[in-house]
Amino acid sequence: MRLGVLGGGQLARMLAMAALPLGIRTTALDPSPDACAGAVAELILAPYDDPEGLDRLGQVSDVVTSEFESVPAESADRLAGLAAVRPNARALAVAQDRLHEKRLFTELGIDTPRFEAIASQEDVDRMQPPGVLKTRRLGYDGKGQLVVREESQLEGAFEQLGKAPLIWEELVPFERELSVVAARGVDGSTVAYPLVENHHRDGILRLTHAPAPGLGAEMQALAEAYALRLLTELDYVGVLALELFQLGNRLMANEMAPRVHNSGHWTIEGTETSQFENHVRAVCGLPLGSTAQRMTCTMVNLIGGAPDVADLAAIEGAHIHLYGKAPRRGRKIGHVTVTSGEGGWRAVAELAEQAADG
Ligand code: AMP
Repeated sequence: MRLGVLGGGQLARMLAMAALPLGIRTTALDPSPDACAGAVAELILAPYDDPEGLDRLGQVSDVVTSEFESVPAESADRLAGLAAVRPNARALAVAQDRLHEKRLFTELGIDTPRFEAIASQEDVDRMQPPGVLKTRRLGYDGKGQLVVREESQLEGAFEQLGKAPLIWEELVPFERELSVVAARGVDGSTVAYPLVENHHRDGILRLTHAPAPGLGAEMQALAEAYALRLLTELDYVGVLALELFQLGNRLMANEMAPRVHNSGHWTIEGTETSQFENHVRAVCGLPLGSTAQRMTCTMVNLIGGAPDVADLAAIEGAHIHLYGKAPRRGRKIGHVTVTSGEGGWRAVAELAEQAADG
């Protein structure tokens, strides 16, 4: 079995690392010669919409997956002529557009913030703050968004967000942000990981606690039910992440990611089968592995700059993952999963903070 990945970043790198012991070789397509998956996978250097590059990837792969959702539809179609594309093109298309995504949530009875499609400044002017304006496509890590707290902010907002199709959402006074990672195999079997609690700053994930502290079994069941509905409806194969807002005993779906997810990195040490291995297993048609949690974990992202590896290694229970990427402001260059409790993760978080964007 040969795995192809669109994108050669850290997600592709960790997928390739999970595939190798299963006897599966990975090829990643990426426009950058520095793509960090290149350390563990063959790299095809080409833009994501380059017909020649795509054909080469399709020819050397039995199955092709992606590390990002914004796969051009034509690229997915072209690859589908040469290899199995998993997850499928519809799942990718839905996840690329916040409006389609939220309509699907609603159709499937998945609680989500109230929303409206916005196509012009006149549409913007009709909205009642507070709310959030987001570009429908190509927004990530808080980019392409505007929190609107008062009416004066509506003025010129359409232009400010690039005159692109937008979505307006109610501003949810959530208590915390959670996410669930789930997977579906070729045979339709499904598994889900424990719900985790996520902390963002400047729109970027900083910290994940696994499992989410103080969570009842009914919240886990609800999140799994939501994920399962999406997986089934989309005839999905692979790992899917669903980001949620918790408000009392409500879970509101914010967005889904049709891929392995940063809030699931802790599963490498923290569970019987990591999200990366389960994604590889799923897309390659293998049985899925147990998602049982082995120990409580906190994952700390390294953003913009990495602490001295010796300082991290001196902290008991710190499992270090450096991606081999050059430091740059706001860039995820590694993560550390800490299995030694609060003292350990606070020490790592402090080092990460000192090194961040330095
Ligand atoms: P997103 O790009 O949709 O994941 O949004 C980035 C972050 O903005 C989320 O992690 C939330 O912290 C916040 N956010 C997004 N949508 C809403 C909303 N409707 N209400 C309140 N906060 C939101």
